Amino acid sequence: MANRMGIAAVFRGPQQPLDIRSYPILEPSPGEVRLSMVVSGICGTDIHILKGRIPVPAPLIIGHEFVGRVEAWGGRRPPCDGLRRTIRKGDLAVACVAIPCGRCFNCVRGETASCLRFGVTYVKNPDFPPHFFGGYAEHLFSPAANLVKVPRGVSALAAAAFPCAGPTIIRACAYGGGLDRGELVVVQGTGPVGLFAIAWAAAAGCTVAAIGSGQSPVRLRLARDFGARLVLDYRATSVEERVSAIRSLAKRVRRGDGADVVIEASGSPAAVPEGLELLRTRGRYFIPGQYSASGPISIQPEKITFRALRLIGSGQYTLRDVDAYLRFLARRTGLQQRFAGCLSAYFRVSDANEAVASAESGREGKVVFSTSES
Ligand SMILES: [Zn+2]
Ligand SMILES: [Zn+2]
Repeated sequence: MANRMGIAAVFRGPQQPLDIRSYPILEPSPGEVRLSMVVSGICGTDIHILKGRIPVPAPLIIGHEFVGRVEAWGGRRPPCDGLRRTIRKGDLAVACVAIPCGRCFNCVRGETASCLRFGVTYVKNPDFPPHFFGGYAEHLFSPAANLVKVPRGVSALAAAAFPCAGPTIIRACAYGGGLDRGELVVVQGTGPVGLFAIAWAAAAGCTVAAIGSGQSPVRLRLARDFGARLVLDYRATSVEERVSAIRSLAKRVRRGDGADVVIEASGSPAAVPEGLELLRTRGRYFIPGQYSASGPISIQPEKITFRALRLIGSGQYTLRDVDAYLRFLARRTGLQQRFAGCLSAYFRVSDANEAVASAESGREGKVVFSTSES
């Protein structure tokens, strides 16, 4: 084992290329598990970090969508994942990065997804052992308590499609009181968060409409594949046209004066006033997609009052939400294939800068790192 090396792409600061470094592969300490990467995704949040819109310390290995195989752990006995299930060598696991404190006002009330003092596993200098703290690397050292075991029958590729976006939507829907069969759901945005929202709402028996960008025809096609009955290109239509299209769809499916639920998954602040327009009176607006400070917008708050709208945010997700995402896949082999099909660009960690450029272009379904195993 001595001198075995692995590669990591290290963030050195905003607007700088990632530095490709190799580090020795060490043995894990007690409570820690070493995984070898199978697939590790690039999330929109990473792009915000790389651009400097979300400040993080440097140097750092970013990436929080790591799906890997358990290679080794510290201590003699096999450890448990974060949901108290024994993990063994060769198991597939998703590594989550958030560490709720367990003691703050929200944690004590069971709302660990909204911990007031979150820690993050990967905010550590990779020059210190065991080096591999984040997702853009061939290996990962994770606290066992941050792992969620992938159930049998779920492929690594399907699990890697939406390991962050999926639980994000599941949490937003849980906070928002769930989705009911027959409801009209409009999803704004057809990136990973939006695409998963479409699949989740369609599986709940909702009528789903999506608003995406024609700049990425792949994503508009995926939106249809995932169950959107109506797909509108926001570049080719006006706000008025979209509002009237959704209102007439609501009429056709007998859902009152607009959508029961609008899910904001575009990340664009400009989408928010439009989302308010798309809702029916008493509608619910789930807003899990605004993940960076992208500037203010003006809204007409009297519409919230008079139309009795409900606005619900989300923030982080819990390990149980990740498990719910994986179990959702376990029951749906056809969907797993469609999810795996979203991974449209594969890169080695050594080509991390090309990978990031590809993710930034917004033209791919989903950009991931992979190894020979996947
Ligand atoms: Zn993410
Ligand atoms: Zn807490």
